[in-house]
Amino acid sequence: MHTDLVAALDIGGTKIAGALVDGHGGILVRAQRATPAQEDGDTVMRAVEEVLGELAASPLWGRAAALGIGSAGPVDASAGTVSPVNVPGWRGYPLVERARAAAGGLPVRLIGDGVAITAAEHWQGAARGHDNALCMVVSTGVGGGLVLGGRLHPGPTGNAGHIGHISVDLDGDPCPCGSRGCVERVASGPNIARRALAGGWRPGPDGDTSAAAVAAAARAGDPVAVASFERAARALAAGIAATATLVEIDIAVIGGGVGKAGDVLLAPLRKALTDYATLSFVRRLTVVPAQMGTDAGLVGAAAAALGTRANATAAEV
Ligand SMILES: [Zn+2]
Repeated sequence: MHTDLVAALDIGGTKIAGALVDGHGGILVRAQRATPAQEDGDTVMRAVEEVLGELAASPLWGRAAALGIGSAGPVDASAGTVSPVNVPGWRGYPLVERARAAAGGLPVRLIGDGVAITAAEHWQGAARGHDNALCMVVSTGVGGGLVLGGRLHPGPTGNAGHIGHISVDLDGDPCPCGSRGCVERVASGPNIARRALAGGWRPGPDGDTSAAAVAAAARAGDPVAVASFERAARALAAGIAATATLVEIDIAVIGGGVGKAGDVLLAPLRKALTDYATLSFVRRLTVVPAQMGTDAGLVGAAAAALGTRANATAAEV
């Protein structure tokens, strides 16, 4: 049988999405379940098995050569286990072994969700053609991944590029990860909103206190909202500059809900980069918005799976 497709899973705290994907990133078949995130581990796994079962019922399933999984982290790709923060039933859960069994023995490649987004942006999106890139998701949390030397760099456990939890404020606020002053603690959506509220910003009649509402206020010129985004932008800029200085990336791609704030975030971010990315070899660093939409996780998982095929040519990830 001609195996020109891969199966892909995107596992998050709210939904488990699956697809059969072709060598150009086209999604041919989809399946989805809500994540029973508060249930025990095997109940969560049953939802994954249902998604795979639905894909396997497609006449195209026989053309799938491998299964790629992008999962909320932390993941441990070397052990084949996952421990997503928002899925307490999965702690060191043997996802790869269970998914391989449910997928009829297909080879499985597991990566973290930030790495999956990065694979998607490199393959089909804003980082296409860039050999050294940092791709970030700025939303409820801050995640990311790296492309180095033209290839996805997941690291031994699949978590490399996790920029949300590098510290940019030595004595800053404690972060749920255990450290202090992490990029995420300053720049995530909830922290942008929290800081705006603490500074005296108040939501409109709809009571919306999300970062998107703060972004709208900033766009309208509210100085407290503007300041909260500028603070987030400085944290992101410091993290991006540190990454660029360490490994010489030439582009940073910003996606996620907060990334959609556009120039409210990107303009102060680009300005702050000139303060932090100062050495000659990082001064040309550019920051651009992500191009991949809601399918980024699936497409990235597919890219990772394509990379596992013995005759991988379609996607050099
Ligand atoms: Zn942290």
